[in-house]
Amino acid sequence: MSWRGLMCGEPRSADIGKRLSLAGWAGRRRDHGGLVFIDLRDHTGICQVVVNPEHSPEAAEAAHAVRAEFVLRAEGELVARAPDAVNPGLPTGEVELQADSLEIVSRSEALPFQIDDEGVEEETRLRYRYLDIRGERMQRNLRLGATVISAFRRYMESLGFVDVWTPMLTKATPEGARDFVVPVRLQPGKFFALPQSPQLFKQVLMVAGMDRYYQIATCIRDEDLRADRQFEHRQLDVEMAFPTREDVWEVIEGAVRGAFEALGREPPAQPFRRMPWQEAKARYGSDKPDLRFDLEISDATETTRESEFKIFADATCVRFLRVPQELSRAELDRLEERARQWGGKGLAYLVFDEEGEVRSPIAKFLSEEELAVFRGEPASTVLFGAGEPELVARVLGALRQQLGRELGLIDEERDEFLWVTDFPLFEWSEEEGRWVSEHHPFTGVRPEDEELLESDPGAVVSQSYDLVWNGWELGSGSIRIHRQELQERVFRVLGISDEQAQARFGFLLEVMRMGAPPHGGFGFGVDRFLALLAGEPNIREVIAFPKAASGSEPMTGAPTTLPDEQLTELGIRVVDVGQRKGHTSWSTQ
Ligand code: ASP
Repeated sequence: MSWRGLMCGEPRSADIGKRLSLAGWAGRRRDHGGLVFIDLRDHTGICQVVVNPEHSPEAAEAAHAVRAEFVLRAEGELVARAPDAVNPGLPTGEVELQADSLEIVSRSEALPFQIDDEGVEEETRLRYRYLDIRGERMQRNLRLGATVISAFRRYMESLGFVDVWTPMLTKATPEGARDFVVPVRLQPGKFFALPQSPQLFKQVLMVAGMDRYYQIATCIRDEDLRADRQFEHRQLDVEMAFPTREDVWEVIEGAVRGAFEALGREPPAQPFRRMPWQEAKARYGSDKPDLRFDLEISDATETTRESEFKIFADATCVRFLRVPQELSRAELDRLEERARQWGGKGLAYLVFDEEGEVRSPIAKFLSEEELAVFRGEPASTVLFGAGEPELVARVLGALRQQLGRELGLIDEERDEFLWVTDFPLFEWSEEEGRWVSEHHPFTGVRPEDEELLESDPGAVVSQSYDLVWNGWELGSGSIRIHRQELQERVFRVLGISDEQAQARFGFLLEVMRMGAPPHGGFGFGVDRFLALLAGEPNIREVIAFPKAASGSEPMTGAPTTLPDEQLTELGIRVVDVGQRKGHTSWSTQ
């Protein structure tokens, strides 16, 4: 016996007259006083099974006992439906299986929710993930993911990249998050860290002569969960020896295009746009700007240097957004509230009404020349940010994003890929009182900036780049440091003493002393990419068994406590530290 001759979504008119077996889940069942109709379903679709008590009394008896989501196997002849029963909305709508036998293979309790019900709470969907995955949305998303990953593999291998597996149990690799750690029974008191990425291994592989490495790598980071963040995510992780940045970009762009093609979509044109970080911050207030709408930020620092409006005159930087709408008092209040959330002290504005008359509490302080620069079309609004450049960019960037959405400026049909380049190497952490890496500490330095490392760390430009799609950061990469002395200098700027560097990264420094070729690569966030491809707002929707927002996995109930014996064996005693929240960036501790 074979369980099934065709999948449920496959029978067609051409199969009429064949004897067939089908197996799947029971969907809708209709009892027509005698005849019973059952929709038999699997991931390929639905086929109607008809059970006629006169034709097969046993099958009819079984059919009466069938409930939603029972697993059934039906055998019989595929017949044409009566003309008035044809369902043009269903690929199998012209045929039905006339069952001679109907076997209940497996029963189902009453379900906590109906398959494909769109209103189910997420916690419930995750608790019963197998029922959720049985539905169309998750089936589509997981299969889309598989298609993309297989396209990635084919593409990378066609370019000579070699898939090398790297360890899960390893030493901390700083990527800006906390580590998940694993106690080691054979060495009590010692811990492995789960990899935040295979960063150091892939660099070592370049020194080891692998030349072109890739892996669909699981990266594990202890940080707060968000729409685009899970404890675990997958990266198309790439490293190349002797690359220029452009070489890396070309490879990644090809992977993106290959994924689009594998899904039968028009791929984005190559090369993708490129924009230095400075420019992205100044024009869009973001290092991952959504370029599907314009609404650019303009600079007014020079214009307002002599302003009578003290706040402008005293600010390091004054910038503005020109909004193509006459915003109301209430809208301005709401935007001001938003600006405050992002650290702004208030929101200065100029509203130009239909007649072009200006309405603003600050207008009286501005000169004719200033007003002439800011004057926009009638029925428009100018919003200002004044202060330190970083703050101004943050506030205006957030307002830009919000207004883009609210005013319907985003062209949803457009796909805007962008390389953001030339990030600073370091950023100052107020919290830690020291320089921290903008990316990770292995990021290369722009050659002409090497001499600034000690004297002006904030001015050093790195050789890193991010890929952004419609305002989502898809991943980061860089040309790396491959010289030991340079790596040591960077560690020192980060406040890592030579002894600490030796203890933590001694192996890397050693590797760099043994013939390290220049190398660089990229970590491409697969789950974010898939979520965008699937049109999903959250990466949980493309992951089979994600963590809920709380950080737990509702189906298995992980994480759990451990029995005392197991803790003792590991040499661990649990102390009560209360509930924890939040994360800080990577620290040297
Ligand atoms: N390991 C980096 C990350 O996960 C990517 C890279 O630099 O290749 O962000």
